[in-house]
Amino acid sequence: MGGAPLNRHSIKTLCLENNDVSDGNGQLLLTPADPWQVPGDLPGLLDGLARIGLTGARLTGETDSETAWSLGERFLTLVTFLGCSPFVRIEPPSPGSRAFCHVRALGPWAAPRAWISRLAGAPRCPACRKRYPSVTPHFDPNLSLTCPCGRIAPLWQWDFKDRGGFGRWLLSLEDIFPNEALPGDELMTFLANQTGSSWRFFYLPPGGGSRGLA
Ligand SMILES: [Zn+2]
Repeated sequence: MGGAPLNRHSIKTLCLENNDVSDGNGQLLLTPADPWQVPGDLPGLLDGLARIGLTGARLTGETDSETAWSLGERFLTLVTFLGCSPFVRIEPPSPGSRAFCHVRALGPWAAPRAWISRLAGAPRCPACRKRYPSVTPHFDPNLSLTCPCGRIAPLWQWDFKDRGGFGRWLLSLEDIFPNEALPGDELMTFLANQTGSSWRFFYLPPGGGSRGLA
């Protein structure tokens, strides 16, 4: 199988190199359920997200400004915050900070990337549903894990629940604590209809950026 064991240091390093983790309160990430799939018509999908009101104006003044947007006028309809009085920051607290609620497109990449929360437990086997004996499976999504039950399955087939995912293209809703908000049915249905496939979502906790991991 090969490959370095997954550990917190390697996650942090990878994320910082990729500039894919916010310095805010976490991220709600949406991606096609099939981690190899990239939406066939990305411009059409992005136009649609603006049309239904998820995304607003493109953010400027950032190196990746072409792939970040302020909140659209229906964001809080399409995404349900679960607290009784959620605090949604809509402006960056300081120039260049990502610690405010906005939408970001990540990718596409040639192969799926793994996004596994440091809060994730050991993933469940796709066959027997038992947990892998270790919480440090290999990082490379192309690698396979062997379950004590005998099933050998690629990492992306193991179930990290909403604490991890794999994808070549993701929508990142930023500055959202894990489980603080849910993408509503309208948004999930829109994504499925627009791309002809089902989508899933998961969360990353705060701390991948400037605050660092423990
Ligand atoms: Zn098993």
